[in-house]
Amino acid sequence: MASGHKDIRAAEIERRASWKHGIEKLQESARTAPREVGVTCIREKSANIQWFPVATGNETSVRRSVFEEYNYLRGDKEDHFSRFCDIHTHPARSSFGIAVGSRLQGPVPIFPPSGLDVENARGNRYHSEFERMRAGKSLSLSWFYGVIDGRGNVWYFRPLMPEEGPHEEARADRREKEIQSEKAQLAQQLLPLLRDGLKNVSPGVRELVEWNLRGLGMLSPSGSKEMAPLILENINILFSNGIEDRFFGPQQLEVARAYGDLLLEEQYRRLPLNDAQKRFAYDSNRSEKLRDGALRGIYAVYAKRGVKLRLVLAEELFSEPPLAGPDYSPRTEKVREENP
Ligand SMILES: [Zn+2]
Repeated sequence: MASGHKDIRAAEIERRASWKHGIEKLQESARTAPREVGVTCIREKSANIQWFPVATGNETSVRRSVFEEYNYLRGDKEDHFSRFCDIHTHPARSSFGIAVGSRLQGPVPIFPPSGLDVENARGNRYHSEFERMRAGKSLSLSWFYGVIDGRGNVWYFRPLMPEEGPHEEARADRREKEIQSEKAQLAQQLLPLLRDGLKNVSPGVRELVEWNLRGLGMLSPSGSKEMAPLILENINILFSNGIEDRFFGPQQLEVARAYGDLLLEEQYRRLPLNDAQKRFAYDSNRSEKLRDGALRGIYAVYAKRGVKLRLVLAEELFSEPPLAGPDYSPRTEKVREENP
């Protein structure tokens, strides 16, 4: 969030509104209202949802009122709440569009939680108090955060716990190695196909590819013989220019896409948070279908900053349980979710 949360307003959602109703109000606000709104959403173990308005004002007073609400709710000691989420909107008509230079031209960019959001989540002293209390009482309640962007997508996130740090680092190292070996394997399949492809494509297509690569500073004017390895290293340029199916046959396309995803992930992982956010907004604005590599990469960038992040696209939101949160995995955790 570029401007801080000074102007955040309480979302007008009935305390007992359904998950769907509350979320749709927030999505509507993110798509059309110029101001950010915030709300706290709580899920009971019975799966009922409750909405609590946050106070207007600065970040501190917002957090404090949330914690008081939480204490109030916990007063009965029955431990019947399971999820607790601070949500705010990143409106389409705010500074985000401007931040990526698009200003409402073209689709609204998908913009992940800001650097400030990350700092707030990590620096929230109530959150660490909560974690200590939770550990002491072995509660299964979880507390996380949500940002609803201008396309109605939800970004769930939470600070990583200190004990998760070494695990995350080891996982990042493993992933770096995996990327390299997966790339090498795919390259072995792709290179011969590419050389054939270069022989077989019509002069028009070859010219188009050369023109694109050269235009992006990837090719010297005489470099066509050396193009195969070069294209291999820049396959996602073909994808981001939308000329992939003019260059690859159907059998190559799948391998090329997998290779392009690895390249994207590799590039994202090396970016600082701010650059990764802007690049993601830019990439998501160009391609309707989000590339997996970009998403894996951006999760890694946030993990490096101490935050676990997960994007739920608007069209997938209601096929998940309410407040599924950053740790939910749609493919593998359906069963676990149903037996908390
Ligand atoms: Zn924000």
